[in-house]
Amino acid sequence: MTDQFSLPPQAAGPQLGVARRNLELLRTVPELAQRYEGLDGPLTLDGLAALPPLAKDDLNVALAHLEPRAATGATWLFQSGGSTGAPKVGYAPTGFYMAGVYAHWQPLERTDVFVNAWGAGRMWGAHFLAAGLADRSGCQVIALGSVTADEYEDWLAFFAARSVTAIGGTPSVLRLWFARARAAGLELPALRKVLWLGEAWQPQLEQDMAVVAPHARRWGMFGSTETWVVGTNTPDCPADTFHPLPEQLVHVGEGDLLDFTTLNPDMLNPVLRYRTGDAGELTSCPCGRAGAAMRVLGRRDSVVQVRGLGLHVNELIARVEREPGVSRAQVLITEAKGRASGVDVLLLTGQGAAVDLDGLRRELLSATFTLSTAFLHDPESFRVLAVDALVSNDRTGKTADFVVREGS
Ligand SMILES: [Zn+2]
Repeated sequence: MTDQFSLPPQAAGPQLGVARRNLELLRTVPELAQRYEGLDGPLTLDGLAALPPLAKDDLNVALAHLEPRAATGATWLFQSGGSTGAPKVGYAPTGFYMAGVYAHWQPLERTDVFVNAWGAGRMWGAHFLAAGLADRSGCQVIALGSVTADEYEDWLAFFAARSVTAIGGTPSVLRLWFARARAAGLELPALRKVLWLGEAWQPQLEQDMAVVAPHARRWGMFGSTETWVVGTNTPDCPADTFHPLPEQLVHVGEGDLLDFTTLNPDMLNPVLRYRTGDAGELTSCPCGRAGAAMRVLGRRDSVVQVRGLGLHVNELIARVEREPGVSRAQVLITEAKGRASGVDVLLLTGQGAAVDLDGLRRELLSATFTLSTAFLHDPESFRVLAVDALVSNDRTGKTADFVVREGS
């Protein structure tokens, strides 16, 4: 396939000086210098497509060497990977580039009462980024962060009393808010806007939203700790389709993998063909807005090895989530000494739903080559279980499609 860019050459050209500067910076990193040898003169889109892509580890190596600092104000360090013992860091200036986002996307207005429900602290950037956006709009902000399981109802009553009009969080966290409100019979009639970032949208959320806050609609941002916000969408766009910001150059390369190049001269991370692992395509958005839109097709690394065979997690989850009564599913792989000792499909089911767990298990086992082959001699090591909660990251509230844990 041919390379595709979100901007035509005449639009991207004048701003490619930023990419050129980042190329020079990456060349000064001893571990990366060799990869970027032999490229001189101004960058073109073709020249950019010929550069090697940057992976998360490459960018972290570069940042450890470059230690960028904001021109004015504070330089914020955020976790961009690694364990909590030794976090890898990405950098951002105060404001988190939200002036550029707000210039093209205004989900919040001065009259809004906005609950910022992205978790704060532990070096995660989403809460602060959302605060930066709210600052631009001049709205009222309730800086809530994450709450514990027994606190939802009291806070929901507070939201209703304050006539909250907007809430933002990861879709996994938003699902908890709306599911709790629905279960408790609480309504948020003033709520109009649901801002989301950090994971793919979860369509099942809309069922609870329709009951709890019938006037609420979703407003999405796409990005990463390294790139910051790349694109945004509105209620009129499909949930997997985003409009890239003009300061972000999106490229679709080999294997439909997306990579991102910043054209913003204030960006501290040298984001130059940075790959998040997401695949996608450039398309036109049915909302009618002109220009290339980016449709995100999900991560290409959703194939996990189970006893030497590739298990397509996305396909398995999609099949299970079509089952009536199943609202969300997750694949939990237990490993012992580097080998999968078991695979569990965990199911969140709706209230009063009676899912035939045994029947579903038998069907998945017989229809999934990897499972039937890998567990030929111990089929009891593959289970389908209904659970009260999926396994989520305490820091970010994100719930991944698959989790690997050490066990026996
Ligand atoms: Zn659109």
